[in-house]
Amino acid sequence: MKHEPKKHIDTYQHKGLRLQLTNILKEKGITDQRVLNAINTVPRHFFLDSAFDKIAYEDKAFPIGEGQTISQPYTVAFQTELLQVKRNDKVLEIGTGSMYQSTILAEMGAKVYTIERQKNLYKQHENYLFKDVYLNMKFFYGDGFKGQPSFAPFDKILITAAAPFIPPKLIEQLRPGGLMVLPLDDEETGFQRMLRITKKPDGTLAEESFHNFSFVPMLVGKS
Ligand code: SAH
Repeated sequence: MKHEPKKHIDTYQHKGLRLQLTNILKEKGITDQRVLNAINTVPRHFFLDSAFDKIAYEDKAFPIGEGQTISQPYTVAFQTELLQVKRNDKVLEIGTGSMYQSTILAEMGAKVYTIERQKNLYKQHENYLFKDVYLNMKFFYGDGFKGQPSFAPFDKILITAAAPFIPPKLIEQLRPGGLMVLPLDDEETGFQRMLRITKKPDGTLAEESFHNFSFVPMLVGKS
């Protein structure tokens, strides 16, 4: 990050809490140092209402308006680690929300394409604090089930809302050799099972399953 926006202040206290959070994520099993560096760099409190300033570095999800939430840092770190983000990867994110996850991806050097279906949340990108810092981000208002075909194929696709099924259009927009990470609804538990799908060079899919998480639902259409 080259500089910090003026109207938000990142104090030594925030920096200290952020380092503590990074260490907690390490203890919880996150090993990708690039993910940990990004979490330690991006001021999460800038993505939350000032009422959350003191608790922004707790490993918790918080409300961001429109009935939506900023994902828990552990969830952000876990999904990002599974995605094996490399510099210059073209990453499609479904569910822009607070823009925190998108910023973590951008901080890691990815070219980020992010879609949000809630107009009020989408419009927040007009005031995105880091627009002069991360030039590698594009914001879209739309239905993530449709993806962003005009920019496909993507190296990586990340869904940050609970998917009722694996969206076929997103599989189509994944480059052969690419990865998609998504929380898939599990009827038995009522939670979501984290999945990583690899699209092999011949176009066939391999699926790996991880533990359960809890996300807000991925909904069809715009709002
Ligand atoms: N990545 C976000 C997480 C926000 S929660 C963050 O870092 O804050 C999930 C978001 O997905 C919500 O903002 C919700 O409105 C959005 N969403 C749900 N279904 C969607 C869909 N079909 N297309 C695009 N966005 C969707």
